[in-house]
Amino acid sequence: MIVEEARYQRAFEEAVATRRDLHRHPELGLTEFRTAAIVATRLRELGLEVRLGREVMDEASRVGVPSAAELRAAYERALAEGADPALLRAFEGGFTGVVGTLRGAQAGPVVALRVDMDALPIREDASTGHPPAREGFVSAHDGIMHACGHDTHVAMGLGVAEVLAAARSRIHGSVKLIFQPAEEGGRGAVPMVRAGVVDDVDCFVAIHVGSDGESGTLYPVVTGHLASSKLDVRFRGRAAHAGGRPEEGRNALLAAAQATLGLYAISRHHAGRSRVNVGVLRAGSGRNVIPDEAFCMLEVRGDSEEIADYMLHRAEAVIRGAAAAAEVEVEIETMGRTTTADSDSALAEAIAHAAAGVPSVRVDLRPHQAPGSEDATYFMRRVQERGGLAAYMVVGSGTGGGHHTRTFDIDESTFKGAITVLCEAILSLGAAPPEAGRRRAN
Ligand SMILES: [Zn+2]
Repeated sequence: MIVEEARYQRAFEEAVATRRDLHRHPELGLTEFRTAAIVATRLRELGLEVRLGREVMDEASRVGVPSAAELRAAYERALAEGADPALLRAFEGGFTGVVGTLRGAQAGPVVALRVDMDALPIREDASTGHPPAREGFVSAHDGIMHACGHDTHVAMGLGVAEVLAAARSRIHGSVKLIFQPAEEGGRGAVPMVRAGVVDDVDCFVAIHVGSDGESGTLYPVVTGHLASSKLDVRFRGRAAHAGGRPEEGRNALLAAAQATLGLYAISRHHAGRSRVNVGVLRAGSGRNVIPDEAFCMLEVRGDSEEIADYMLHRAEAVIRGAAAAAEVEVEIETMGRTTTADSDSALAEAIAHAAAGVPSVRVDLRPHQAPGSEDATYFMRRVQERGGLAAYMVVGSGTGGGHHTRTFDIDESTFKGAITVLCEAILSLGAAPPEAGRRRAN
């Protein structure tokens, strides 16, 4: 190994403590104020160049931004929980991205690691059967939970920063650590890509813990992320007395219900998998009132951009058709998007090579099926488009319930192997980048 084992042990212990603190204080997408402040503070202490907020997020490409009231409440909560007020100002309005750059002592390529930071609107299991509850770091934010392991990603990202900051003399080129907000809902990556965050990157790795993988195994060839679109739909009709003058009403609930049924009736696509889900439908105000408002949150997905676009196009037609039939107005808003991307085998092999000397870690180079969608795919595509290499790596880490459930938990012991392999891979990629990893001049 390039770095001594004792340093990894220290970084691992710190990562567990960081993860538990973040797990106790989860924040939803674009409101990761406390988390981003902790990240920025730590990266600065370690001597990295830190860019944050609007410097790393393009305002015009943001979608699905929480309401002003939601942003304000989360900001106040972060302040109350002790986040640095001077730093917080840079994140105001939901610009919660952070990028730390570590310049090595020697010339070489730019190697980037991307981790995400957001939690989910899920109420965490508080029973003693759930380890975070039993060990005192269950979510203190009611109805919000790190149920996908992004707390562990931040902890591992900071662990990598800590080890590499101390190994600067051995770094060729530079290392970029990207802390992305709002992966859930596919909202955080595009504004960072458009801000040019990966435009100089030669090798890019995104990580995700995976409860379906075997603990201690790394899977750097993840395939099959679904392209997706997330939509909010508002139907506006006309209220009327349900007994006295029903014919004067324009029923928004009926339009939403018909749209929902129609969405599930969209024909499958011959070329690959597709998905549709209406996750929220709210409508109406009282038993004897023709409902004048309805609200739906839905998503469509596909194996390719082509299939996802097909699903989106059909979904919009179904929604507009249902609205027209009920003579209600409809407004469709895109709240997030993800695309597809493939891991480059040369990069996956370089990671496997770096892992060869690391005890208790196994690398499985066979394609590992992604469980859903990921907006890291936008970073991957951007890097690959410019001639660089990209990989998406699952860190097998299963315990507790599945992803996005109230009993989700992960095996913390896997942090050490992941931090070690990431650091060793980043250091060796800098010294000897795979051929295709040298960015084409343009
Ligand atoms: Zn996730």
